[in-house]
Amino acid sequence: MTAEKKCKVLVVGAGPGGYVAAIRAGQLGLDTLIVESDRTGGTCLIRGCIPSKALIHAASRYEELCAHFNEKESGSGKLGISLSAKPELDMNQTIAWKDEVVDKLNGGVEGLLKKAGVNIVKGWANFYDAKTCTVDTAEGPLTIKAEHVILANGSSVIELPNIPFSDNVISSTEALQLDAVPEHLVVIGAGYIGLELGIAYRKLGAKVTFVEGLDRILPIYDKEMTRPIETWLKKHKTDVIYKARATSVSDADGKPVLTYTDKNGDEQHLQADKILVTVGRRPNTQGWGLENMCVDMNGPFIKVNDQNRTAMKNVWAIGDLVGEPMLAHKASAQGEMVAEIIAGHRRSFDPVVIPAVCFTEPEIVGVGLTPDEAKAQGIDVIVGKFPFAAIGKALTMEAGGDGGFVRVTARKDNQVILGIHAVGAHAAELSGEFALALEMGACLEDLAHTIHVHPTLSEATMEASLAALGKAIHISN
Ligand code: FAD
Repeated sequence: MTAEKKCKVLVVGAGPGGYVAAIRAGQLGLDTLIVESDRTGGTCLIRGCIPSKALIHAASRYEELCAHFNEKESGSGKLGISLSAKPELDMNQTIAWKDEVVDKLNGGVEGLLKKAGVNIVKGWANFYDAKTCTVDTAEGPLTIKAEHVILANGSSVIELPNIPFSDNVISSTEALQLDAVPEHLVVIGAGYIGLELGIAYRKLGAKVTFVEGLDRILPIYDKEMTRPIETWLKKHKTDVIYKARATSVSDADGKPVLTYTDKNGDEQHLQADKILVTVGRRPNTQGWGLENMCVDMNGPFIKVNDQNRTAMKNVWAIGDLVGEPMLAHKASAQGEMVAEIIAGHRRSFDPVVIPAVCFTEPEIVGVGLTPDEAKAQGIDVIVGKFPFAAIGKALTMEAGGDGGFVRVTARKDNQVILGIHAVGAHAAELSGEFALALEMGACLEDLAHTIHVHPTLSEATMEASLAALGKAIHISN
């Protein structure tokens, strides 16, 4: 017999969108149930943001240690610290450590849900009308009827039709679980996920080659922003084959060989040990009865208004399911907002900016408009730029030599800030101040005259604002 449960709020998917929505709804006293077929935490925690950043950290640590050994070999001794033997990498232990981080956070999310009084149901939710689903749980089928449904089903990796996933052709999920560093990793797609993982594997000792369809990496950032990454790739003998179209994979003695057409239309082959496909993600709109819910679509995404309402009354959709940018913090912000609206608060999703970071080498932060985007909108701008090479703290962390900088873009007429961008080691940690400045409608003087702690990297934001005003202190104007 099918058991039945009723609740005020049913959340589908416990990623950063769904679990945040459920916790907030629970905190607000709403009778809330969350359904998740996998582990709580979703793509972000289980196979995305967190494990990738853990792998990136381990890879950077390994590369650094190798540098101390190499310098000793060459007789110099980096920072006066030398290693007499080359550091050894045990990839199984690295992955086990990464899994520990994930497990700890996964337990934390479950604990927070329980503490907020949220009922967690494990299994796949299948809807047969907009407010009713059945979940095949370990205890048997369960029918759930809800007053409000928050869809937070997230997204999945895109598989190339002619290059199906296999043992040797992998997605980002498998790239976070490898038990050995491939000798040659070919990465199809030089977007942020491909670059983050490809750079991490380069640091772990793999030869890495990117095959990219466009004529540049990270096209949402301008050339000035991506140049330090290109320089790093070149310095680390990592090729990017531009304007190349991957067409098929064959097998040569157990190793995958990628066939692609180059910029001249000629067929080329690349032998690899693993091929990592990172060509984007698609919203999870299939296989759970979306067609029975009478919602409208916006291309491949579920269409929502500025409160994340779908076309069906009391059905809400958030996160990767509703469009770009597919980022965890956007999903969480929408989840928190929807829970509050259901509880009767007046809210709408109208951020001035949704900040974005690429955890590449070096890191890139993008908040608001670039100078080119502002000009394309017919806005006259002034731009101030300040290099990390002139920031004391950067030098003390060996972080000033990668060509990094902070760039502030403001309206010329009233000096209101339109965008702040940065590239450089550790630059991701500056993103909070950038986003806050734009949300608060700060103008150049606000940033320039806010006393920033010395010595910190954040002084570069203050100095870039001073530079835009023509009065930077630590570089000539
Ligand atoms: P998801 O996190 O995808 O969660 C959806 C959940 O719903 C899943 O757990 C799924 O199992 C469950 N589900 C789906 N359908 C059903 C159903 N019918 N029944 C039950 N359960 C269901 N973003 C960042 O902001 N910063 C980063 O640094 C970053 N790095 C990333 C690195 C990688 C390698 C990847 C792959 C992604 C990264 N992202 C990053 C993107 C980020 O992970 C997503 O934007 C985010 O997870 C989206 O959250 P969500 O809640 O919308 O969906």
